[in-house]
Amino acid sequence: MSSAPATKRVAVIGGGILGVSTAVHLLREGASVILLTERGLASEASGRSLSWLNSAGERSTPYHQLRVAGVDRYRTLFASDPSREWLQFGGGLMWNAEGQRDTTEARHAYEKSIGYDSKLVAPAAIATVTPGIDADAVPENAIFNPGEGWVSLPDLIDFLMEEFHARGGELVLNAGKASVMVDDGRTTGVETSAGGTYPADAVLVACGAATPAVVEPLGVRIPNGSPVSMLVVTKQVQHDVAAVMNTPRAAVRPNPGGTFALDHDWYEERITEHADGSFSIPDEVVQELADEASKLIAGNPELKPATWKIGYKPIPGDGEPVLGELGQVPGCFVAFTHSGATLGLIAGELLAGEILTGRRHPMLATFRPGRFS
Ligand SMILES: Cc1cc2nc3c(=O)[nH]c(=O)nc-3n(C[C@H](O)[C@H](O)[C@H](O)COP(=O)(O)OP(=O)(O)OC[C@H]3O[C@@H](n4cnc5c(N)ncnc54)[C@H](O)[C@@H]3O)c2cc1C
Repeated sequence: MSSAPATKRVAVIGGGILGVSTAVHLLREGASVILLTERGLASEASGRSLSWLNSAGERSTPYHQLRVAGVDRYRTLFASDPSREWLQFGGGLMWNAEGQRDTTEARHAYEKSIGYDSKLVAPAAIATVTPGIDADAVPENAIFNPGEGWVSLPDLIDFLMEEFHARGGELVLNAGKASVMVDDGRTTGVETSAGGTYPADAVLVACGAATPAVVEPLGVRIPNGSPVSMLVVTKQVQHDVAAVMNTPRAAVRPNPGGTFALDHDWYEERITEHADGSFSIPDEVVQELADEASKLIAGNPELKPATWKIGYKPIPGDGEPVLGELGQVPGCFVAFTHSGATLGLIAGELLAGEILTGRRHPMLATFRPGRFS
């Protein structure tokens, strides 16, 4: 006589893209899922991300492969409805500062060598590959990567949450700081600072930059290299830009509603962290970033910052993703990574598979948290 396997109950801590994506993939595979998050959904990095979908430049081969698979999953989603304003594949355009022609050429040669779609373009030829750019801003040469795109993560999270609810997922907002419960060395569920307890067969910690702090009480050390960063969203402006731009003084992408999203790192030391954990930056620095972005856009339209959000950008200490089960605490999994926008869909898919089947996916082999033990 055989009996049907019991439904696995999984608790996910963290309402950013990694938590939400994994939760939805778990539900698709028939798990019972509860998602708990400290405040609202997309309240941290996923709510203030440039979200350039790419594997440009040079990195480890496994990381490149995972990112390419990440972009692939977005392409599948894109193909299901190319009219979505929050997910677009207009390519990526990058250039370096004057005097770095060789560096740009070397990056292009590397990208070609691994089969990554990469075109080296002179300023005068940029209009032939992508619209809306001020070619005068490009000092020497640029790289256009036609296969890249961007996503607005808050919109993607809303989209995934519709499926989450339709499939019967349970959501706990404003849970406060949740932690992993362990009994006899095995994960037993989640408890919140408000005293709520949620028994589960497995727990995923997807707390962004807070992930190392959440697993530390379990005796697990994950180095944290998360810097403070800022994302600016402009007011609506008329433009034809389709590509994500990565340039020496501004990174720029189109954003829903005819706005732009902007970021960079040159102003990091102008950000102040206050005793209550909030951040601030002088208004003139925000405007300076908008002015730098304006120089890149055909016609140099005046860009007016509408909102700017500051906080930690999740980056593990060694720069590589940390994905998988904790060796010290069976049943407890982590998802902590740089480029979590690019990896959001694929990481959720692979982690859900591991959580439910216990089978380790080969693409995650080098990203296990155990490498720090
Ligand atoms: C400025 C900026 C630019 C970026 N650019 C790109 C890019 O171009 N391409 C790219 O691929 N990626 C980019 N990223 C990275 C990407 O946005 C992040 O990796 C991704 O959003 C992280 O998602 P997450 O779910 O891991 O974490 P988060 O979005 O930070 O979510 C973590 C969640 O966990 C909750 N939480 C934390 N601790 C607890 C606790 N103890 N209990 C309960 N809940 C808790 C938080 O409240 C939050 O809701 C960028 C990020 C930033 C900030």
